[in-house]
Amino acid sequence: MGVCLCEFESRSGHQKFEFSRAQRTGPLDGPCPDVWGHDDAAMTTIKDRLADAYRILLAAFGPQDWWPALSRFEVMVGAVLTQNTSWTNAERAIENLREEGALEPAGLAALSVGRLEELVRPAGFYRRKAKTLTDLLATIARSGGGLDGLLDLAQDDLRRALLRTTGIGPETADAIVLYAGGYPTFVVDAYTRRFAARHGLASERASYDEIQSLFENALPRRTDLLNEYHALLVCLGKRFCRPLPLCEECPLRSDLPASV
Ligand code: SF4
Repeated sequence: MGVCLCEFESRSGHQKFEFSRAQRTGPLDGPCPDVWGHDDAAMTTIKDRLADAYRILLAAFGPQDWWPALSRFEVMVGAVLTQNTSWTNAERAIENLREEGALEPAGLAALSVGRLEELVRPAGFYRRKAKTLTDLLATIARSGGGLDGLLDLAQDDLRRALLRTTGIGPETADAIVLYAGGYPTFVVDAYTRRFAARHGLASERASYDEIQSLFENALPRRTDLLNEYHALLVCLGKRFCRPLPLCEECPLRSDLPASV
């Protein structure tokens, strides 16, 4: 089925912070262009499948209202703390930081290393994550314009600056670029990899960049859509596409290749 996502609307009722630059909302604010294109048959098929999957997941799960944070700095902290652990554990660490007044750069910088490690301990790997948060403060300082100075960098420059930070890899950097920077990028995580491999969209051995390119070439470059798509795939991975998949009950079972 050839479909268009141009009428997509973010139905989040809980906008927590606003982005400062209108261009970050991507190319679909104006009249509907042919965002799917018709470059070759294989890509057209992938675009159609990913568009259908998006609609099915949105209908099944509803808007996910991501990222669950009250500020852009909190998004950045959360993206670090949720590495290699559940969001529940990350949230406990975030609440510790909130109670300490450390969910803004100056408050975080005022903490001793020991105290910071203690506060983020519920998120696991607490020494490494405390170091990453400290280095993130240094990345912010290097921007010369504080948090806004960093997040207002051009998309590629922001990603590069984040990747130079100890403990921040492509997934965390892209989560920050998308959810704190408001730029249209696709975040690849373990749930995305699992879905893509099981549905024959990408090899199990595909690199981060290859999977990201697959989705970014197939989807409209629109921040709110890429925001929602990633969140919906996380929901899919938690509820159905688990290590032992629940395909019989899954809303995406109609997209499974016949060979699976
Ligand atoms: S149909 Fe099965 S493999 Fe596909 S997303 Fe659902 S649970 Fe995963």
